[in-house]
Amino acid sequence: MSRVQVDRDRCVGSGVCESLAPEVFELDDDGVLVVHRSEPDAGQLDAVHDAVQQCPTRALALAE
Ligand code: SF4
Repeated sequence: MSRVQVDRDRCVGSGVCESLAPEVFELDDDGVLVVHRSEPDAGQLDAVHDAVQQCPTRALALAE
């Protein structure tokens, strides 16, 4: 099972991850990232991989 890791010191609340994988990531009203599925379903992994790669501050990682 893959697990999403967020480096909160790096996240700047850009919302790129939310736009790519909205079932997994959401910015709350204060701009703080909420991870709804820290262990994404198989069908969500491609979108999560995209988010990991496209996060502008490299704040995301997927641990196997
Ligand atoms: S894409 Fe990266 S910087 Fe932007 S909200 Fe997601 S984790 Fe934070």
